[in-house]
Formats: sequence, structure tokens, C-alpha cells
Amino acid sequence: MQRTNVMSAALALAAALALAAAPADAAPRRHVPAHPKPIPVKPVVENPVADLPFPAFERGPQVASACTTGLEGAMLRVKELEKRKAGADWLKGWEALYDWEEDQSGALIFLQNVHPNAELRAEAEKCEQRWSDFQAGLGQNALVWQGARQSVALLKDPVDRRAAELALEAFEDAGVALPKDRQVKAKAIADKLATLGQQFNRNIRDAHVRVAFADAELKGVPEAVWKDQPRDADGKVTLPIDGPAYATVMQTAEDAGARERLWRAKTNEGGPDNLKLLAQIEQLRLDQARLFGLSSYADFVLRRRMVETPAQAARFLDEVHAAVAEDDRRDVLELRQAKARHLGQTLEATRLQRWDTMFYSERLLRERFAVDEEAFRAYFPPQESLRFVMRVAEKMFGVRYDRVDGKWWAPEVQAWAVTDVAGNRKIATLYVDPYPRDGKYNHAAVWNYRNGASAVPRQAQSALVVNFDRRGLTLRELETLMHEFGHTLRNSLSATRYASDAGENVAQDFAEAPSQMLEDWVYDKKVLKVFQEVCPACKPVPDDLVDKARAAREFGKGMQVERQHLYAAYDLALHGPGAPDPMETWEKMEGASSLGYVPGTTFPSGFAHIAGGYGAGYYGYLWSQAVASDMRTAFVGDRLDPKAGARFRATVLGEGAQKAPQQVVKDFLGREAGSQAFFDYLKK
Ligand SMILES: [Zn+2]
Repeated sequence: MQRTNVMSAALALAAALALAAAPADAAPRRHVPAHPKPIPVKPVVENPVADLPFPAFERGPQVASACTTGLEGAMLRVKELEKRKAGADWLKGWEALYDWEEDQSGALIFLQNVHPNAELRAEAEKCEQRWSDFQAGLGQNALVWQGARQSVALLKDPVDRRAAELALEAFEDAGVALPKDRQVKAKAIADKLATLGQQFNRNIRDAHVRVAFADAELKGVPEAVWKDQPRDADGKVTLPIDGPAYATVMQTAEDAGARERLWRAKTNEGGPDNLKLLAQIEQLRLDQARLFGLSSYADFVLRRRMVETPAQAARFLDEVHAAVAEDDRRDVLELRQAKARHLGQTLEATRLQRWDTMFYSERLLRERFAVDEEAFRAYFPPQESLRFVMRVAEKMFGVRYDRVDGKWWAPEVQAWAVTDVAGNRKIATLYVDPYPRDGKYNHAAVWNYRNGASAVPRQAQSALVVNFDRRGLTLRELETLMHEFGHTLRNSLSATRYASDAGENVAQDFAEAPSQMLEDWVYDKKVLKVFQEVCPACKPVPDDLVDKARAAREFGKGMQVERQHLYAAYDLALHGPGAPDPMETWEKMEGASSLGYVPGTTFPSGFAHIAGGYGAGYYGYLWSQAVASDMRTAFVGDRLDPKAGARFRATVLGEGAQKAPQQVVKDFLGREAGSQAFFDYLKK
């Protein structure tokens, strides 16, 4: 039995059960700006650069000096914008500032994640902080805010007006429109929140918690995971709670006591200090919302999101709960039965504990589906896998990907020109950094660092950063690639008038939907046949292997979704009109779930999502999945349908943030957006 061949579904389950599941990609992408964007200056408008070459930085000082040049240019452009006449002239200046900022800072800041030179990476990080300070200052600029306000009133064209409206909203959320005393308070709260959020993360990151085990306690765990780990003074192996070892131990350790200790350490990460911080953060957010005349932080956040109101988010979550409650109970019962069988005891005498779920899920998956994810690697070589997702896009969206010769930030980095086939015109560049390397970002993510626009000659650029296994991809990895590639499509195929409206500058709870929609393309046998078009020599992946992987992926769905529901509902409860105690609220809410609350544990102390940028936004993971399911209905029967694909390109990918998300989905589907497809899927 190959225990090290961790099955993909088990891994996904592990992630969902262990903690708040992180997004597939923790990618720093731009969404609707927290602060207003940079501003334009005449030279940029008059001499726009359609296709910027990738900066050829080799050393840190080059980056520092380019950073200064960029910021100085931005400040000049702000000065110039302050004097512009409201209306079309103002908007032109505003967009030119935005374009300038992207061109000066986008690729440069991105390099902190991938450049082989550590000193250069550090400079790029510093530069990001400088730009962030610049934006915070811009958010408080009353002259530019007035320009935005007056322009909204003057602009008649809907696209122009919407661009100005989004700018105005960003200014308003930064507090510049408030009376002076409140404005000062809002700024102080924002600064304090940033500090507390960083402290919360530091308390998790810098604790370096390790749990000690005698060798015998790790029975069942693959030796590769623990043999070389450091030992304490008693000769016991010590394992970290934040690496891949965590999931493997939880899935494979026969000793329930060992699992419990590791699980408790993980669940309590951040500790009492973080519970105090969370309570403070929550109260400050409420204070902030009240400065704006709103009754809760959820109101403050959600009025800018697709979901619009806390009431609608809550209603949606209730429906999710209703759809999966029965499956959740069934999943728990199945795991309990598996535990009773494993320990040779009666069901009545068997209680399923939270530290049992990953272990028995793994056993059931192995018994039932016997999927060996490693077996897929032979069918999906890395370069051909990349070519495969491109080919799928070529068939769906009428584009072409051509490899461009050249050298970029590291050997093996590739550049691809994206061409619109009908117009025979290059529209974007996609960089791909395919293989692992020291100092490189070690997950999969996309940086859409330059957005295209039609008002000026301006092509989109993005970077897809992955860490392919040179032996080939598993199906789960191919799914991740498809998801990330979906983010690049939003950049490459955006066709908005202004870059500030482009690509993924959409509401946070809508941003993931297209990528989520495309994920299940790789489980479609017809789509997988496309692989032979890009690799005639590759053996076709056997259908039964795909069937098993698909079934395994669905395993435990009820329990996973119910857990996500709990996280989302908890997040909204904390950010409602009161400021309830974080632990009391959690004990009550988790206590009502099928596995209950475990006394002595403090899950919220490690819940970094809600202490950070996902505060009052955790529901968005489920919400955008529902949007993805809804949009997917247009591809029922043929996921490669070029007609539906063309419509998707024009109405969803092409429109970016030019229209409200509800309208975008409606334009694509020809009917109102809804959650029924998602609920049907959940009940299936
Ligand atoms: Zn994503």
C-alpha cells in the first residue's frame, strides 16, 4: 500500500477540515482598490505604451531607483490631476495615473515572489510598502476626491460614469468624504487595524509550534514525513503544525492520542493573545462602520460586493446549510461506522472526534475508490499540461497562444503572446514560471500586474507562477492549473475601456467565479481528449481512472461544505451590529454542529482570514462557487462549446468591472443570476 501517495480528494478534505480552507491561490491580485488608484499625467496620455517590455532588473539597487522614479512620477501626476477639470478630462487623468502606477510598480513588485536574487526580492518588497503608503495618502486627497465626485455627476456615458463611481467609492471608503473629526478617527482606526492584523499573523507565524512524538506514536505515518525531523532532548521527534506533515499525520497516524495532540496544537494556534486581538479588531471595525453611519462592519463591506447586504449573505448561507445538513450527518455517521469497524467496537460505543475525521476519511477513500493520484503523472507531462489548458481556451474563446523567444527573470520562464484570431491582433502577454526554485513562491498563483484598456493602446500582461513536478501532473494539480490559468484569462481577454475596470478589478465575491467554473473542465472526458491534440504521443488517460478521481472528489462534500458554512456564518456573526465575544460565539456555533465544540480549544485564535482581508467576506468562497455553478449551466452538454465560450468571453471576461456582477452574469446567461444550480449540486 502506497501511503505516501496521498489522494487528492483526501488532501482537499484535509484542507477543508483542518482549518479555514485557504483559497486555492493566496494570490495577491488586485480587486476593487482599498484605496483609490494612481493618477495620470500628460506624457502618459500622449505617449502610451501598448506593450511594455518586462523590466530587466538584475540587482536590488536598480529596483530601489526604479521605485523612486515611479513614485515621483505618480506624485507629479497627482498634482496635475488635482487641477484637472471635472468630467472627461478628469477621468482621462485619473486613468493615466492608474496606468502609470501599474506600469511602474506591477512587474517590479511581482518580482519579490520569483526573482532569483534575494537582495532584489527584498527591495521589491520595500517598494510595495512605499506604493502602499502612496495609495493611503491618495485616499485622503480631498482635491482628487472632489474631482471624482463632480465627474460622476457630469459624465453621461455609462462606462465613463462607472469608472468614476468606482474611484469615488474607494475615496469614500477611505474616509475623505467624512466631516473632519470623523475623518481623523477613520484614519486612526484604519492604521490601528492594519497593525493589529499584522500582529495577529505574526503570533501564528512566529510561534513555530512543534509537537513531540515517540517513534511508536507515529505508527502508520510514512517515515519520509518524520524520520529527518528534529528531535528534542528526550529523543522524541518534533513535528511542525504548519507544514505538509500536519495533514499526513492526521490522515495516517493510527494512534488517536497522537492525532489529538497535534490537532489541539493546530486548533489553538495564535493562542489567548490572538483572541484578545480578534475582539479588538472586531470592535474597531464596528466603530469604523458607525463613523460611516452604518450599523455593522458587514454592512460596510458588503455594500460594495455582489451579495450587497448581510441579510442576503445570511439567507444564502441558510440555504446552503439546508442543502447539506443531511449529507453532513450521513458523512459523519459513515466515518463513525468506519471508526467502529477499525477499533472492533459497537457503533453505540463509538464517538467520532474532530481528530478522527481526516484519518477515517483517508481510510474510506482508499477502500472505496483506490485512486492513486500519482498514476496520473504519466499522462500529464508538465509542458503539455500547460499547452493543454491553452488549447482549451483556444477552442472556447477564439484565441491563439504563441511562444515568444527571449529571456526573463529566470531560466525556464516562458512568454506567450495571446492573439485574437478573428481580428488577427495580439491582445496580451502571458508569462509562465513553471518549475520550483530556491526563493521562489511555492504555491500556484497569478499576478495580473498590468491590465489592458481600449481607450489607449494598452495590452494586458500577467504572470502564472506554478511549481510543476517534472515527472508530470496529478489530476488535482491539473485542476489547480486550470483554476489559475482561468485568472490569467480574466487579464488576457479583458476588453474594457479603462484598465481600472479591467480583468479582476471586480468585487471580491465575484473574482473567483470564472476560475471556479473552469475547475471541473479537467474531469470531463471530452475535454481531456484535447490533450492528444497538444501531445499526440501522450497516452490517453483511462476513463475509469477519471471516474474514480471524480467520485473521490465528491466524497465528504456534505461535511466539507457544512464546515465552510460554519466559518462563513461565524464571520458574519462577529461582524454584525453587536460586537459579540469571539470565543463565546464560537463555542455556541461550533457546539451546534454535528461534531460539537471541543472544550479547551480556540479555533478563532488562528482564523487569519477573518482577522485580515476576508473579514465579513468569508461567505464569498461559497457565494462565488454558487455563481460558478450558475454560469456552468451554459456549458451543459459541451464544455468546449465555442458559441457559449464566445458569449462568456464577451460578457464576463471582456466586461471586467464595467458593469455590476449581477448584470454581467445576467448578460451571459440571458436570465437573472441564481443559486439553484449550486444547491442542486450540493443535494446530488
Ligand atoms: Zn483563485
